[in-house]
Amino acid sequence: GYQLASGYGYTDVLSEMASKPYRWYATGYNPQMLNYNVNGTQPETSRELLDKLRSPLVDNELLDRKVVDDLLKERKQIYWNTLHTPITEPKVDGLVRPGDKLAGSSRACFLCLVRNEDLEEIIGSIQELEEQFNRDFNYPYVFLNDGEFTEDFKNAIRKALPKDRNIEFGNVAPSLWDLPPNINEEEFKEHMKKLGGIQHADQLSYHNMCRFYSKSFYHHPLLKKYKYTWRVEPGVHFYCKIEYDVFQFMQMNDKIYGYVLNLYDSPESIETLWTKTLSFLREHPYYLNENCAHEWIRDNVQKPNNYEITHGYSTCHFWTNFEIMDMDWLREPAYEAYMEYLDSQKGFYYERWGDAPVRSLALALFADRRRIHWFRDVAYSHFPYTNCPACPEDSDRCNGDCRPGFFVPWDNLEVENCQATWIKYIMDQKDLDMY
Ligand code: GDP
Ligand code: MN
Repeated sequence: GYQLASGYGYTDVLSEMASKPYRWYATGYNPQMLNYNVNGTQPETSRELLDKLRSPLVDNELLDRKVVDDLLKERKQIYWNTLHTPITEPKVDGLVRPGDKLAGSSRACFLCLVRNEDLEEIIGSIQELEEQFNRDFNYPYVFLNDGEFTEDFKNAIRKALPKDRNIEFGNVAPSLWDLPPNINEEEFKEHMKKLGGIQHADQLSYHNMCRFYSKSFYHHPLLKKYKYTWRVEPGVHFYCKIEYDVFQFMQMNDKIYGYVLNLYDSPESIETLWTKTLSFLREHPYYLNENCAHEWIRDNVQKPNNYEITHGYSTCHFWTNFEIMDMDWLREPAYEAYMEYLDSQKGFYYERWGDAPVRSLALALFADRRRIHWFRDVAYSHFPYTNCPACPEDSDRCNGDCRPGFFVPWDNLEVENCQATWIKYIMDQKDLDMY
């Protein structure tokens, strides 16, 4: 059965949450307090972990309407409380400020994979990024394209960025981009007919892009010299200043991955990704990290159909249009072996596996959860989703163009938010207290 923290009635908790929104949270509310499901025991071996991974977060027999409603209400409240708590930046020692000796000194770059026609929208993104962050840190840019960038494109980018910015333009070799030899084009088309309704499924280039962003980009010659990269997409927005060197923050705090948005995915695009991942793990159980983020993968409460269609994966994933990565981690055997295996299983083409669920599963399985960082302070949107923190009243960090706690313009999409699941099950007290 499920357990509640002793001495604290579940309904008391909910009503208290409703009456005292965020102050209560800010004074030490621990979202782990409501422990439906969580067994408490740390898995001792990877075999045990593997068993755990095959069981849902909450026992199906316990999931009656009331339990589901309560858990969803609780998650909504956790998200609301968290996003309405005024924050500025991580409260850690040694943040590197503009002008400090270490400012801008990480082996890091911005990465923009774009086409010539994305020019205007990528300029919008990088200008906001410069204004909110990089004008003080001067990190370089790498622009990649499967086609040739035109001279007009390159000149427009150079003109849009400060004169002293280091900018490189590169092509993606066909071997890293095009249909790999194990994929048959006719068969691809057949499968895509069946995947009709899924976004971008009928676009070969989108499949190429997802495979490239899963298994190839960190091998690109222009990226080899870097440890960290911050991925930037066309048409995104940054609403608040970031007044410390985020790459130095990652390094000093032993983070390998930084994200801002955390969502459920379309399960039809990854029908066999999870079962194939389990096969991989049966062969290589030693890649599992003892402190991996398994609850996040196993959530069957919020989108039970997703869990069912994928045969056991919540579909929770980091939205990779923003991601700050330690590429050296990707270059290690666990990630590389997983990529080789997934590629051999053909799901980048015969299904429409996204780089987001692929990377997220790798991180949630092979990494210590404490090395994954939610940049709560980065106010960001990629249509249609937004991460917008609240600021202290006396702060001018944010430009006011996003509303704290606002996630998506349509109510029916609120349920796609997996952030509360991460907050409740994955973040520890140290993490919760970091802002
Ligand atoms: P969405 O955000 O999932 O709807 O996908 P996007 O259309 O934004 O594509 C994701 C990223 O890959 C963006 O940075 C795009 O500019 C880039 N991208 C997508 N398809 C291609 C392509 O065929 N060629 C190039 N060079 N970039 C692409
Ligand atoms: Mn995009």
